[in-house]
Order: sequence, then structure tokens, then C-alpha cells
Amino acid sequence: MSAFRRTPSFKYPPVGICIYCGCADGPLTDEHPIPLSLGGHLVLPKSSCRNCANKTLYFEGVTARTTFGKLRMRYNFPTRRRKARPAELEIGVINRDGTPKRRMVPATDYPAVVFLPHFGRAGFFVGNNPNIDTLYWKGKAHPTVNVDEHMALYGFDGVYEAKFMPHELGQTIIKICYAYAIAELGIDSFEPVCLPQILGKDNNISYIFGQKGETQPEAGDTIIWKITLAYIVSRSMPPVLTAQCVFLEKMGMPIYEVVLGFIRNFDQFAVMKDKISNYSLVNQF
Ligand SMILES: [Zn+2]
Repeated sequence: MSAFRRTPSFKYPPVGICIYCGCADGPLTDEHPIPLSLGGHLVLPKSSCRNCANKTLYFEGVTARTTFGKLRMRYNFPTRRRKARPAELEIGVINRDGTPKRRMVPATDYPAVVFLPHFGRAGFFVGNNPNIDTLYWKGKAHPTVNVDEHMALYGFDGVYEAKFMPHELGQTIIKICYAYAIAELGIDSFEPVCLPQILGKDNNISYIFGQKGETQPEAGDTIIWKITLAYIVSRSMPPVLTAQCVFLEKMGMPIYEVVLGFIRNFDQFAVMKDKISNYSLVNQF
């Protein structure tokens, strides 16, 4: 069984204003660009007001508990409530005759079948009107075990049950990429376009969020967070800052893509552009 190897936390310099709403009054909390519950070790001090922290913690919590819930237990991810983590997990299967079947299996033998929503390309990249919601998704399982062998071992005959929340997953990925970009490049480095989606003021995440492709499954159980910042230059608009984000790279996961904002300061862009393309974050465990 692979267990999470905790990477020591890395602290950026404090920001001093909320990176989501810009307010500087009141207490500011420390932001984890990648949620602690999903293995993140980066800390951006004094960068989120309580109001915005409540909003981001909500969809991060939904993502950690539902979409990645069983997987976190299977790989023993960090939790603030470790004592509550069970030794056995319930697995549910819909058998071929349509009947549901449930039983407890040891946590170490849980298949951690991850159903990750696969999305279309962000509307921004295909020239859509920002008001058109093109979000569609199809679940695709990424099993960590041989499904046939596992089904036979526990007397199952069908498909695994799973729950995932695509909108909250999208918000989580957008937030991770935005907070990471601010941490690496600075609060004034670009003009964000993704804040309405993060703060829930615009429910159409499909304009700035989507999928670029899929990683190729590889042997080995190395599990990686990877974020790559990039920019797009065109004649019709200022340079656009984007990010690609992959979780569990070697399992054939989707490569998510986020439009973060415009880089309007051309002097700064000249300094930034060589750095941007080379930024990537690998959190290995
Ligand atoms: Zn705020």
C-alpha cells in the first residue's frame, strides 16, 4: 500500500490583502493553494479574508469528501481528524442484474476507484460567448486495482458505485491554479478573470475551465500534483495567463486547463514570460 509521504510545508511571503476580494480589513487567514486535505504543502500567509475562506473551504471540502473521499482514505492522505479514519471502508456495487450490493472491506484493500469527471475544452479557447455554459462531463473510472480480480475476490459482479461533484471539483481546480499563480508571480502580476467562478458569482465555469487531454497511464504508483503556468499571445488581446493542472498523473487522469487572466503590464510580461513557462509544482508521495 502506498502511503502519503508528507512534504514539509513551504511558506511564501505574506500577501497582506485578500487575493479573492481585495479587502485588507479584518483578520486575514493563511491560504493553502492546494488544499491540505489533497496533499498540498504550499502556504500563502495572510491572503484570504474569512468570508472568502468560507467559500473556498466549502467547495474544497465537498471535493475532498466526495470526488476524492475514498481515494484519500485508501492512500492515507492528511486529515485533520485522523482518529476518525476507519480501518474498513464500505464498498458498493451495482450487480449486473441491477441489484445493489454492499460490504465492508479492509481500507488497505479498497480499490479506490476514482471517478473523475472529464470535461470539454474551456469556452474561452474555442471562442464561445462567455454567457454560454458548455459544461458537459462524462465520468471515467481510474481503478488502482485489477477490477476483475477485485470483483471476484469479494464476490461482486457488476460496476462500482461512486459519487462525484463536478462543479465543486471545477471550482477547486480553478482556485488551486489561481492561488498558485498569485503565490508564484505576485498579486499584481495579472488581471484575473476567474474570480467570479471561484466566489460563486458566476456559475458558468465552462468558459474558463475545461480539459486539454489525458495523461498516459504508466507503471508504478507515484502520485503527483502538477501545475504548469503558461501564457498565450495573440494579436487580438493582451497575453493570457493559463494553467494546466494534473492530479495523480500516472493514472491516466484528465489534464485540466484554466484561464487565469490577462497580463496587461507589458514591462512585467517581458520579465515574467521566461519564468512562467518553466513553473511546475510536483508534490510527490
Ligand atoms: Zn476576501
